[in-house]
Amino acid sequence: MPSQLTRLDDATVAKIAAGEVISRPARVVSELIDNALDAGASRIDIAVDGDGTERIRVEDDGHGLSRGDAELAVQRHTTSKLPADADASLTAVSTLGFRGEALAAICDCAIVEIVTNDGDAVGTELRAADGEVTVTDTARGQGTTVTVTDLFADRPARRESLASAAAEFSRISDLVADYALAHPDVGFSLRHDGTKTFSTPGGGLRDALLGVYDADIARNATVVERATDIDIEDGTGSFDLRGILTYPSVTRSTREHVRISVAGRPVSDSGLRQAVIDGYGSLLPGDQFPIAAVDIEPPTGAVDPNVHPAKQRVGLRYRDALEAAVEDAVSEALSTADARRAEAAATDLTTELDGVDRSDPFADLRVIGSFRELYLLCEDDDELLVIDQHAAHERVNYERLQAAVGDDAIPTATLEPAESVSVSPAAASLAEEYADLLAALGFDVEPFGGGTLRVSAVPAPFGRVADADTLRATLDELAAGESPADPRETLLATLACQPSLKAGAELSLEDAESLLARLGECEQPFACPHGRPTICSIDETTLAAGFDRGATRFE
Ligand code: ADP
Ligand code: MG
Repeated sequence: MPSQLTRLDDATVAKIAAGEVISRPARVVSELIDNALDAGASRIDIAVDGDGTERIRVEDDGHGLSRGDAELAVQRHTTSKLPADADASLTAVSTLGFRGEALAAICDCAIVEIVTNDGDAVGTELRAADGEVTVTDTARGQGTTVTVTDLFADRPARRESLASAAAEFSRISDLVADYALAHPDVGFSLRHDGTKTFSTPGGGLRDALLGVYDADIARNATVVERATDIDIEDGTGSFDLRGILTYPSVTRSTREHVRISVAGRPVSDSGLRQAVIDGYGSLLPGDQFPIAAVDIEPPTGAVDPNVHPAKQRVGLRYRDALEAAVEDAVSEALSTADARRAEAAATDLTTELDGVDRSDPFADLRVIGSFRELYLLCEDDDELLVIDQHAAHERVNYERLQAAVGDDAIPTATLEPAESVSVSPAAASLAEEYADLLAALGFDVEPFGGGTLRVSAVPAPFGRVADADTLRATLDELAAGESPADPRETLLATLACQPSLKAGAELSLEDAESLLARLGECEQPFACPHGRPTICSIDETTLAAGFDRGATRFE
């Protein structure tokens, strides 16, 4: 990291997507965090008062600034991150900042105080207010603290465009969470009006997830780290992905909790976000989204950081290949992860990536009973596992159907004579609209007028012949979603559900054990095809807490 600041030449300045970068308090926070990260900080502490216009302070333990550099830093177009005459594309930029104008822009609309030390005996305190800069000696260890007060004090229009203090702070908090998850090896803390909002220790992704969310979520998540080769212009390039994904049983109703960063820069990129969601495939319930943080490091030259004034979006080459690789990595990570064992792995971060035993996650289970003829109770070390029989059975059937059908056409059974199925008028018109799709799924359906369909063939994969209910259910699915992501899978899930154990079927011990064994062989044993969990675990400490037992077992 060069720490000598230079002023960019006019040609370079003309190339950068300059613009007014400071539109709201969160923008100040993000520019200051960028600078702290670029300075190699291992801890970044952020404090915000009110909506952020009152005070924002960002303190880091990075390399700091010499007095001369501090004086240059607040001037426009001075940076230590680009050569004075940078190459036109800026794709080689590896720092978060590169335009040399953030500090200057903040000084334009606020009072800025920088206390910094680059390892010298004396530190520097620089105050920039109303175009005046004063510099004094101060004591400070290596690092930098930037305090911004009276933001937009002389810009009433700006101030008026801000939302409530709570809303502005929530933007800031969301942003700090983005950074904390994109830089899990850096410790972050955020305070609001003197009270700690959250902090992360800089101890990796799971700890960061714990800091930003909670222990339960961190426990129910898997870490993925993968390098893939993708085809690029002159050969192949390496594409690295690192992230943490919650299991499908932990979801939120908005996609906002799927956080994407590109080379450590949090971005809002709907394509990459969707790729992560797609990687969950049928594991997610229809209207639910996971919690995830994924950082991707595309091959050199594939990222243009200079397409957005606030650097919130980046230009990506090879986007299709990157999105496909992201979806793949997520899907693979979820299918190989053992959701239940993540708890044990959480305390041992080095083995969690390859330490999961795929052979049979339920090998050590002991069935100890059933509840309401719907839930199987099983003992596994100090956990009580409750298994939803119906969901487990659906999962087993679904994977068997998938395997039986593969990519081939779905086998059909001809109905002779053709059956009349009455459906709602809406469903009848859907059947017409989706005739081709239904045919591909194995239904031969003709509208017969007045909400009646004449069905002359039905799908019959794996000897399992569909019936009128399956057709109705499939039409319902079509009606519900704009159009289901993968109608084949939807159909298989619907078929898998049909003959499954209904609530109330009593299982013999033998049946229960064989159901568990078959569930253990599944690719994704922890959720039914509709994304509902198959297993819920209650550990002994939860029971102990419920009985006020504390740590001791036998009192
Ligand atoms: P940029 O980050 O694009 O270079 P800024 O205006 O944000 O532009 O910062 C100008 C320069 O000030 C940076 O290039 C860097 O050398 C220095 N600087 C800013 N903040 C810090 C910090 N927290 N620690 C060390 N150096 C910093
Ligand atoms: Mg900067």
